[in-house]
Amino acid sequence: MPVTEALDRITRATENEEFWDFDIFELEAATHKRPLTYLGLKIFARFGVCEVLKCSETMLRSWLQIIEANYHASNPYHNSTHSADVLHATAYFLCKERIKQILDPLDEIAALIAATVHDLDHPGRTNSFLCNAGRELAILYNDTAVLESHLAALAFQLTTRDDKCNIFKNMERDDYWTLHQSIIDMVLATEMTKHFEHVNKLVNSINKPLAALEEDGETGKNQEAIITMLRTPDNRSLIKRTLIKCADAISESGARISEEWFSQTDEEKRQDLPVVMSVFDRNTCSIPKSRISFIDYFITDMFAAWDAFVDLPELMQHLDNNFKYWKGLDEMKLRSLRPPPEQWATLPGALMLCPSSHLGFLRARAPWSFRPPVCRACKSTQGRRQPSVATI
Ligand SMILES: [Zn+2]
Repeated sequence: MPVTEALDRITRATENEEFWDFDIFELEAATHKRPLTYLGLKIFARFGVCEVLKCSETMLRSWLQIIEANYHASNPYHNSTHSADVLHATAYFLCKERIKQILDPLDEIAALIAATVHDLDHPGRTNSFLCNAGRELAILYNDTAVLESHLAALAFQLTTRDDKCNIFKNMERDDYWTLHQSIIDMVLATEMTKHFEHVNKLVNSINKPLAALEEDGETGKNQEAIITMLRTPDNRSLIKRTLIKCADAISESGARISEEWFSQTDEEKRQDLPVVMSVFDRNTCSIPKSRISFIDYFITDMFAAWDAFVDLPELMQHLDNNFKYWKGLDEMKLRSLRPPPEQWATLPGALMLCPSSHLGFLRARAPWSFRPPVCRACKSTQGRRQPSVATI
């Protein structure tokens, strides 16, 4: 493909990055698996990152390239496409009215950088695996938040060891340390052992006091009290942690993450290590059941709390469709990611047609994703439900 055509395709693929229906897989294909650099440049420019950090766009590009190069392209899931997807969701949340009222420019930049680096150098294995296998990193970090500690440290090493990509070089000292702390705090929050602690804190320290204040009416004085309450450093940290956790959790899940975990189970069996996630055995796994448990256990409460705070009806609708899709597959006693073609139409929320009735269509990101379906042919997101088999 000629260079200009390839660049045009990339430009088109990043065009709607401000919207929820942005298609990360099209960008992955257009950039030959380097979506993070291109999406990063576009999103960081939109948030004025270079202006705040006083760095050039060339330096930002070098930084993004070195960060992307340190993701493992061979991982089915934890590669730079996942991190670009999390960056996209992070930027989307940052533009919501409630979040804009509370976070300042340095908070926003911390969130964007944390999303960009949050799975850097991920080996495609979980923390438990690294500990059980006695890997060097587990020893270095005393079996505690191994990957998160490693990648946060590595992100700063990669950035500061080469002047050419040191985007922090021109910052005031105090600002740099605030940003540094904030990025580390957010990256560490993506570790799952503290998941419930973070969600409970959001509910108790933010949602409940907020509901009480809002109950008192919408007076100007009350609005001020709400903003003051939400803008305390502790609450801002809590909001940033939940923001990155939600962005991480809704990144495309299903096929890719299952494959990565299947491969871990294979290796555990080969090396006679404890099998950490016995559900993810490629011979016996029911993907629908595993997705249902994941949504029930980790997603539902966190998103209910996040939606109560930020107001995200579109996201909740997709979550609901997604859940119904997996339930439908499970009720049909299917174990795979998608049903045989003849059974599509019987699935709730599954079969949709775009307004131009393209065939094959609206499967781009749905239904095993939390994003709306996009027609591959005409890029429409205005799908309508296909009548079920019973009514045809
Ligand atoms: Zn992640």
